[in-house]
Amino acid sequence: MKASIGDWLATGAQSLADAGISDARLDSRLLLQHVLDLPHAALISNSGNIVEENAAKIFQGLLERRAKGEPVSRIVGYREFYGLRFLVTPEVLDPRPETELLVEVALKAANTMPGPMRILDIGTGSGAIAISLLHHLPDASCQACDISSTALALAAENARLHGVGGRFSPVLSDMIPPDCGRFGLIVSNPPYIETSVIASLDRGVRDHDPVLALDGGTDGLKFYRKILSTAENHLLDGGAVFLECGAGQAEPICQLARAHGWKLTAIHRDLSGIERVLEFGRT
Ligand code: GLN
Repeated sequence: MKASIGDWLATGAQSLADAGISDARLDSRLLLQHVLDLPHAALISNSGNIVEENAAKIFQGLLERRAKGEPVSRIVGYREFYGLRFLVTPEVLDPRPETELLVEVALKAANTMPGPMRILDIGTGSGAIAISLLHHLPDASCQACDISSTALALAAENARLHGVGGRFSPVLSDMIPPDCGRFGLIVSNPPYIETSVIASLDRGVRDHDPVLALDGGTDGLKFYRKILSTAENHLLDGGAVFLECGAGQAEPICQLARAHGWKLTAIHRDLSGIERVLEFGRT
């Protein structure tokens, strides 16, 4: 069928909506942008242009994958996070919009601290948090650890693509490496889903995010326990720890933190009002 960009956008949105995809219009647009290699503005200003048959076929193929539940980022191989584009592979967590809150509040804190800032990112995955911080803190450096060497290789590639590779050090470790020194900022979005809940997660998450990046142990708090019991020896005076958490976890994590001598500095809520990022310092 000979149809324009505008027609295909509408057709795509309709077919995704029919398949029960909630952000059908957005996803249709992102997939068409990918196929035609056009930024948003160019897609809209050229919406009367006819889409070639070959491109239309590819678009239809991508729509089918999305309709079956595969997330857009997994289909196109990248995701926008904090205004930057990150490569995403099956070995890493798809960076989430709510994690941008952690970056935002950590940046605010960093700007009040003396530089040059040393940052530790625990469980870096795609490197989304670490690289966004480095992008906005030109004097900072970051040690980014992860248990997955394929994740670290991808994070290093993302760092290089964003021009911060020289300040980004990947470290193969599932926790704080013992001899890494002290940092002004320690950040983490650790795996925090209770093991028993993983099977019942939305299919886009369950089937496409690596279980290693999701599984927080029986009570979901395994990594907070590890971080809060060891981070003290790695924080500079006046430094801060920022931890993302899941809905309902703020309270038990704060209890854990208190038991380890941490002082809660702030709880930051995400756009849905969920207590999402916990900020700690030493008492
Ligand atoms: N730090 C990465 C992110 O927030 C990966 C987190 C994880 O794998 N749990 O996107």
